[in-house]
Amino acid sequence: MLRGNDEMFKPPAKFVWLDGEIVPWEKATVHVFTHALHYGTGVFEGIRAYSVGDDVLIFRLKDHIKRMSESARMYTFELPYSEDEISNAVIDLIEKNAFHSPLYIRPIAFKGVGGISLDARATPTSVAIIAFPYEKYFGENNSGLNICVSSWRRIGEPAVPAMAKACGHYINSVLARTESAQAGFDEALFLDKDGNVSEGTGENIFLCKNGLISTPSFASDILNGITRQTVITLIHELGIPLEERTVRRSELYNCDEAFFTGTAAEVAPIAAIDRKVVGNGKLGPITTKLRDEYERIVTGLNEKYRSYLTSVYGSRYVDIPSARLPQR
Ligand code: PMP
Repeated sequence: MLRGNDEMFKPPAKFVWLDGEIVPWEKATVHVFTHALHYGTGVFEGIRAYSVGDDVLIFRLKDHIKRMSESARMYTFELPYSEDEISNAVIDLIEKNAFHSPLYIRPIAFKGVGGISLDARATPTSVAIIAFPYEKYFGENNSGLNICVSSWRRIGEPAVPAMAKACGHYINSVLARTESAQAGFDEALFLDKDGNVSEGTGENIFLCKNGLISTPSFASDILNGITRQTVITLIHELGIPLEERTVRRSELYNCDEAFFTGTAAEVAPIAAIDRKVVGNGKLGPITTKLRDEYERIVTGLNEKYRSYLTSVYGSRYVDIPSARLPQR
């Protein structure tokens, strides 16, 4: 029987959290009648954890779980566990796997077995959490990404709530990302339905021009990225002018700097868009500053943002005691 490339696939974790229990990787399975498999009826999150000293620090855990429950609400279902229960389950799972490396954490809530009706309100909701070691999303590419504007437009209102991080929405990202990879690019950038700049397949975008930073607003059907929120806070703190607004496609081709933000991508400089070099082709000062400051925040070196971090091997849900953090 043809089973794709699963023989080459090595489980990245020993244990998975599934519906209230931590089970061995092999046991974390679902039935083929699962509603979400057919219709994409699920919501999920992508969270990073950073290894610092002998601890593991989860970045904005509660904010991610909150967004997950908000995504569910947009699709008329409730998570069967409280946000605190899911957050605690994330910590338990990391402990059980005894992970001490940088991690990617994927909680997912999805409609299970209960029929094929498109009104899935009565269909039971399952929750799973997978966590596994993870390094850089775009490899060790530090000099900047080579991206293209996708021929596919970003899904959004009035068809679907773009703000929901829903499983089915990602078929749109799969189309764009695959198309861009086939054409030899690192990533694709979506325009919204009106032809204005929206976002990457899994990242928000920022442009800098003459010292002013611009980023598409919610009206361009972006996801309300948690990295975007963090970077916006940083931009304000650094006193750099910022506009959240409609960004025209042509602005892509004459900006001084451009970068993506996202949990997986972090702050990722963009070197070229549609083969046109961004700025002078070198890593720009604003991108460099924001990338470095972001790294300091996620690793606990910026004291002001310690409340964004949850310590796995320290205390739960409290700011990390200074003693646990590396001193600089
Ligand atoms: N847009 C899309 C479509 C995404 O999938 C992501 C990744 N979650 C982002 C933006 C960035 O969001 P965040 O910073 O919360 O990871």
